Amino acid sequence: MIKLFFQRLSIVLISINFLNCEQQGNDVTDLLQFNIAQSEWEGKPALNIKMKFKTDSSGTTRILYENEAWGQENLFDCIKNIKLLDSSIVPEINRDSGWIEIQHPRDLNLINFQYTLIQDFDGEGGSRESYRPLIQQQFFHVFSHNMFMIPKHIADTPEDTLNVEINWDEFPEHYKIHNSFATSNSRQLLTNISLGDFHSAIFVGGDFRIYKQAIEGNAIYLASRGDWIPFKDSTVMQVLSKTIKLQRDFWQDHSQDYFTVTLRPITQDKGSSFQGTGLTNSFATTISNNEYTDIGQLVYLFNHELQHNWIGHTIKNANEEQQYWFSEGFTEYYTLKNIAKHQIQGLDGAYFIKEINGIIRNLYSSPVKEAPNSDINYENFWSDRHYSKLPYYRGALIAFYLDKFISLESKGRFSLDDVMHDLQKGALENDLKINQEYFVSVVNQYVNEDIKGFAKDHIEGGKLLPLEDIFKTFGWSYMAIPEIFDLGFKFSDDQNFALTVDETSAAFASGLRAGDQLTSRSIYFGNIERQVVLTVKRGDEYIDINYYPVKKAEVPQIEVSETNIGLLTF
Ligand SMILES: [Zn+2]
Repeated sequence: MIKLFFQRLSIVLISINFLNCEQQGNDVTDLLQFNIAQSEWEGKPALNIKMKFKTDSSGTTRILYENEAWGQENLFDCIKNIKLLDSSIVPEINRDSGWIEIQHPRDLNLINFQYTLIQDFDGEGGSRESYRPLIQQQFFHVFSHNMFMIPKHIADTPEDTLNVEINWDEFPEHYKIHNSFATSNSRQLLTNISLGDFHSAIFVGGDFRIYKQAIEGNAIYLASRGDWIPFKDSTVMQVLSKTIKLQRDFWQDHSQDYFTVTLRPITQDKGSSFQGTGLTNSFATTISNNEYTDIGQLVYLFNHELQHNWIGHTIKNANEEQQYWFSEGFTEYYTLKNIAKHQIQGLDGAYFIKEINGIIRNLYSSPVKEAPNSDINYENFWSDRHYSKLPYYRGALIAFYLDKFISLESKGRFSLDDVMHDLQKGALENDLKINQEYFVSVVNQYVNEDIKGFAKDHIEGGKLLPLEDIFKTFGWSYMAIPEIFDLGFKFSDDQNFALTVDETSAAFASGLRAGDQLTSRSIYFGNIERQVVLTVKRGDEYIDINYYPVKKAEVPQIEVSETNIGLLTF
């Protein structure tokens, strides 16, 4: 009881101090203060970050910084010049455990700490470097968890929230500061924010062009940089605002008063790549800036990423990767459904069927197509592209099936939309998170047949759906295609070698062998019309290898016909 009393007291004191902190500036509160300025480290552009906060009264203060996160390793390589200001105490750094420890007198109230953040590789970064700090002369692009260290005792408070002040010191007028919380604001105050929300954020600065639009009175922003080849900023903003409006209408949620999208171009010689990350009040995109990229891909990307504001963010997974079948797969399904239903950029039911067919082909050609759900774990998901794609394909097909199944079972009264709205309600009202059991119980309210066994086989067990039977039941005409994409070999972890080659594959027949070093390559993943063109180094010899990446298979595909389009559940 006494402890509780003191906690209440301290909360009151904090709020009083907040009122005063602008005048006094350096009060001892639970405020975590950051001051960020441009600087240099060994000739490279850098950001200097100063932190000021109340010490841990035990005399040992730990500051957390993840060395491994979002598939990246050695993030401490981006941190230099760690020290305490106005103190000779030397912090102990434990990279592998992800903390920096400061031993100090127990009566020390405040710690003034600083570090320098740099980019630890050359160039402006491709898609692989997206989740590392990018700090150039012209701009910076950094995810919050890579930028802001957090004192452990402050993160561990019973309220589980932070009060953060960020000051952008002396950035030039033309240097835009824009992020998940504000635009062009040199002093940002974030009160009662959870560590998760604070760390799932994007911070950019520099030569970004910032666009603003209002939707039902709420501001949305686009922050774009570089000279785009495939589209204009204005077209991107159009797609973005239409997508946001439609999705907010679907979820009946116009509550977000600030939302931003960042658009980062990357240089890529061939093919297109685009990558998006749904975050607090925002999503961050990285897109190849060349003629192989088009607005249709961006329509897809925006629709996918925006859905994560609800699927994944409002409706959370109980255990991250274990429910990616839901947060990624269902997002994928609603992406296609939303685009086709509202014909965004002219994409319609035919587009929807073609995309579903593509998902079926991709799933069937995956070497891990029937891996149990438990294999989709942190390690596999972030290191092996087959596992990272699997929950998208599997989950999207499960959603596709259930949407139609619910509609048939309820004679058109309900659809998967009702399940999604129930899950949204459960999350908002009772903080319910997605796991298989909960999901099954919600779907079961709309169908006569218990889907428990279905979920055990196809979600947990990873068994392929009996698509031909399903298509027959739903009345969709379909055909079976005889060939699917098969690369025929597995890459080494660093992507530079053929680790294993399937002896029955076209790759093997054309001469590729395990251990070959891939010195050049052209691969259109998922495309069976384009040859794989490789140059490999074996010993001192260079060998050219070409082949069509196909293997024989029976893959059911829905026919793109008016009748089938008419049978879609929109
Ligand atoms: Zn996603």
